[in-house]
Amino acid sequence: MEIKVEQPCPQCGGKITLDATHRLLTCPYCGVKSFLQSKGPFRYTLPVGGSSIGSNESLLYAPFIRFKGNVFLVSDTGISYRVVDTTQEGFPMPGLPPSLGLRPQAMNLLRLNNGNRGRFLRLSRKLPVILEKAARINALTGKGGKQVYHRAYIGEDISYIYLPMLRENDCLVDAVTDTSLVDCKQTRAFPLKGSKFNSRWQVNFLATLCPRCGWNLDGEGDCLVLSCRNCDTTWYLGKKGLERIPCKIIPGDSDTRLYLAFWKISAHIPSMKIWSFADFMERTNQPVLTGKLWRERVMSFWIPAFKLRPKIFLQSARQATVNQWLLPESQELHTLPNLYPVTLPFNEARQALKLVLAAAAVSRKSVFPKLPGADAENITTQLVYLPFVDRKYDWMQPRTGIVIAKSILQLGRHL
Ligand SMILES: [Zn+2]
Ligand SMILES: [Zn+2]
Repeated sequence: MEIKVEQPCPQCGGKITLDATHRLLTCPYCGVKSFLQSKGPFRYTLPVGGSSIGSNESLLYAPFIRFKGNVFLVSDTGISYRVVDTTQEGFPMPGLPPSLGLRPQAMNLLRLNNGNRGRFLRLSRKLPVILEKAARINALTGKGGKQVYHRAYIGEDISYIYLPMLRENDCLVDAVTDTSLVDCKQTRAFPLKGSKFNSRWQVNFLATLCPRCGWNLDGEGDCLVLSCRNCDTTWYLGKKGLERIPCKIIPGDSDTRLYLAFWKISAHIPSMKIWSFADFMERTNQPVLTGKLWRERVMSFWIPAFKLRPKIFLQSARQATVNQWLLPESQELHTLPNLYPVTLPFNEARQALKLVLAAAAVSRKSVFPKLPGADAENITTQLVYLPFVDRKYDWMQPRTGIVIAKSILQLGRHL
């Protein structure tokens, strides 16, 4: 489910509603484009009923953690996955609901800013604990007695959503619905003082101008890579701002209708003695003869740079990785109109390497037990666009055989 956020334009103050996953804001009133940057997860609050919004000093905010993403698990019975979207309490106290349920989807959230005067209860649950609970890993492993080799969270979106409360007649009251939550006698043991808005939580709005030539960069709300049509450069919306990234393309032919980007992550996996592409093909027992040139080719994992549902994400990554030798040399990217937006951050893609090893393994026994120690080293990354042809309901990559249903690609924009 999508969460919508109400956000005033940093330039003209106009009221804008955007998707919580979007980092790029285009104001429909003044046309100014800016991108959102924060030091940690975004923080929101449910809107307070009435007009006391934000400025009320006596508000007490209870934190909830929202996790949305794909959870993968590699066990001796294979690879399982699930899409998780949940909001869990971050401050365990009697009376607070364990989850916000559907409430964040039912109303526009507000971004916390230094105008929020109340006190914020401290987030006291550790993220991994929440993730594990959210993923209900036990449900994924099924019946007991199984060996778990690896778990990964990919495409994750973590944010903090606060529930505003007010103290009324020795009770804590939900300030959104104006209903009583808990008798204050029961909460004596809990530190309810909270702290003020922390300036580190403040989201910055930065101009989307090309750092090289000052031109306006192109890109849609959810995309992470912006291009400059003026000086032909590409920029990644990183944690520190706009970073130039190496970007390549494998040119298609007259049948090409769309280019989809993959993170080409070159890496060594010393514990499995994987240095070259030939090593990878041998360790995963691929039923092909290892080509001579494959020994000189550094091992690269090809991970979709756009969000997909877990099954097709892993399938596409496996096919692109195993069949990479069928692809022609890549070339410098020149800005093209039919590039599909990059929506999966590089650091998320990096977490898929062990999954690709598992998915590519012909013999589970020879690969799965090695996964816990199979850490990648000497990592370098490139973004490479692959050509896809239109097959009515699907997009197909002719060389590697990757097929992605159009409906699934569209759905990925809302994951
Ligand atoms: Zn504006
Ligand atoms: Zn430029």
